[in-house]
Amino acid sequence: MDLGIAGRKAIVCAASRGLGLACARHLAREGVAVVMAARRPDVLAEAAALVAGEGGPAPVAIAADVTTEDGRAAVLAACPDPDILVNNAGGPPPGDFRDWDREDWIKALDANMLTPIAFVRATVDGMIERRFGRIVTITSAAVKAPIPSLGLSNGARAGLTGFLAGLARQTVAHNVTINNLLPGPFDTDRLGQTLQGFAKSAGISLDEAKARRRTENPAGRFGDADEFGAACAFLCSRYGGFVTGQNLLLDGGAFNGTL
Ligand code: NAP
Repeated sequence: MDLGIAGRKAIVCAASRGLGLACARHLAREGVAVVMAARRPDVLAEAAALVAGEGGPAPVAIAADVTTEDGRAAVLAACPDPDILVNNAGGPPPGDFRDWDREDWIKALDANMLTPIAFVRATVDGMIERRFGRIVTITSAAVKAPIPSLGLSNGARAGLTGFLAGLARQTVAHNVTINNLLPGPFDTDRLGQTLQGFAKSAGISLDEAKARRRTENPAGRFGDADEFGAACAFLCSRYGGFVTGQNLLLDGGAFNGTL
């Protein structure tokens, strides 16, 4: 299926590994010119080679921390007028809320709420003027079903979700959609990090923790980042213009609810 976005320009944040990289690869496969950002230049260079291999226009790799103003400025300088924005950043650490002070909360809010809002603020009016825009934000299944050990993530992402829900209804008349992708367990570095805490507290190995989580899931497996990237590309497609304000859960059915 041709998604009708060849020649469009995209910013994909946190794109050197995992879900962000999969989104960048799928967009490049559709002929989108991708500006991809992540902090570690060596890992980013390897990722850019994979994106280049998808056959679209050559990607531009910006080594930057997107949670900083300078980092965001560097990304926006490379692509000041994107048609597509994929918001993403590393998730906050797990822990007990009694141990978190104001600084911990500010860090989580900066990374997982205020950074995506800053990118939206910098790009959405241009999209409205050009009458095409697709904003996809990677959040978490924790938005629908909070994960007790990930309180910083539960809190920051809930705030972001509320803000974007309101904005999504104001931009869609201009063919600018705003949606969120909510990953359940995907087999990425991040999953290993969060399961490490679970393994430790349960007194089991990381492999055992992974095996348990896999079998607990109705799909009997973890998600594959490639599946996630394809969902992102569809939301960014020309056919996505009537889908806005949605929180699409990709979790193998782990959230047990009718809606
Ligand atoms: P991942 O495999 O660990 O990849 C994270 C990517 O983000 C890397 O490319 C990393 O590169 C980049 N990154 C992290 N912090 C950054 C920053 N401040 N500025 C720029 N780039 C940054 O993680 P993932 O699994 O793809 O997760 C993506 C998001 O989905 C996270 O917010 C995570 O919490 C959320 N999520 C994931 C899962 C899952 O099962 N995988 C489930 C729920 C939610 P550098 O380190 O080099 O910057």
